[in-house]
Amino acid sequence: MNTLKVTGELLQWYKKHARSLPWRKAYDPYKVWISEVMLQQTTMKVVLPYFERFISTFPTVQALAQADESLVLKTWAGLGYYSRAKNLHRASKELQHHFPQSHGELLEIPGFGPYTARAVSSIAFNEPVGVVDGNVIRVLSRLYDSDWEWWRTHERNIIQTLADELAVTSKNPRDLNQSLMELGATVCTPTSPICSECPIQKFCLAKKNQTVSTRPLKKNKQLKSMWLWEPQILIKKKKLYLEKQPKVPFLKGQALPPGLIRRISKKPSQFDFRHSITTHEIFVRKKDPKCPSLYLSESKIQNWIPLEKIEHVNPSSLIKKLLLSQKGTRK
Ligand code: SF4
Repeated sequence: MNTLKVTGELLQWYKKHARSLPWRKAYDPYKVWISEVMLQQTTMKVVLPYFERFISTFPTVQALAQADESLVLKTWAGLGYYSRAKNLHRASKELQHHFPQSHGELLEIPGFGPYTARAVSSIAFNEPVGVVDGNVIRVLSRLYDSDWEWWRTHERNIIQTLADELAVTSKNPRDLNQSLMELGATVCTPTSPICSECPIQKFCLAKKNQTVSTRPLKKNKQLKSMWLWEPQILIKKKKLYLEKQPKVPFLKGQALPPGLIRRISKKPSQFDFRHSITTHEIFVRKKDPKCPSLYLSESKIQNWIPLEKIEHVNPSSLIKKLLLSQKGTRK
């Protein structure tokens, strides 16, 4: 395959079709970084309002570094994966003094994995390295009509090498990487690719071999684990009792109402509501708040949080649902 021609077509197409996005205006590394971390959570449409809100609250990496963690978590609320927000905050304390330009140096910063480091170094600083996300895997698997088991390290490395080659060949890695991601997001989509509008259709081996619908290979979906959680909602004088629960496998490090948690193999017959967090399917069965609490080791005053400040301590939607269901119970 003539990679020079492929990258040429991609770059021309990108010039015309790139969506106007807030972090594409000046390629400020801080904004590129925040957008990349957010985009790992969810779709562009969902990310845009969160991005605007985050940047207006923390306009610079210094502002983020100096903010309270509770405000960072509150501003992140709704995006899930709170550990990522905590990592962003931790990393900002190093980046506020010096923002490295190469992916090798960025990898040294806590919270920067191989994907984020490459995305930031290539998009913000034009470093000639490839960026491999789900969109790029799809486009390259189809372009080369390859049955890569892309979730395996060895084959992932092959894809990375190809993406690196394309980035180097293009002489414009920033736009080349973004063109591949953009093509995957808007034209070479998972279920209905619009091959007639694709700038690289004449090179696409999957199109030629009529294997588009089978590329890339599908990874078996990770099964969710099921949990029965029996929190006790202790409310006194408009304050809710929350404490860290080291045995709870979700929302790690966050304060929660005390209660038993156990893994289960089938859906329980009785529960108040169900909630999913990443790969955890949680069946919530509230414990009667009047029962003497079996789980409170000692009631510390700092663990009684005023209801209007819960969001600052734990902004997750699980807590919101718990409190809403509590209102329902009281009626
Ligand atoms: Fe994807 Fe179709 Fe373009 Fe091939 S021709 S890269 S399948 S949109």
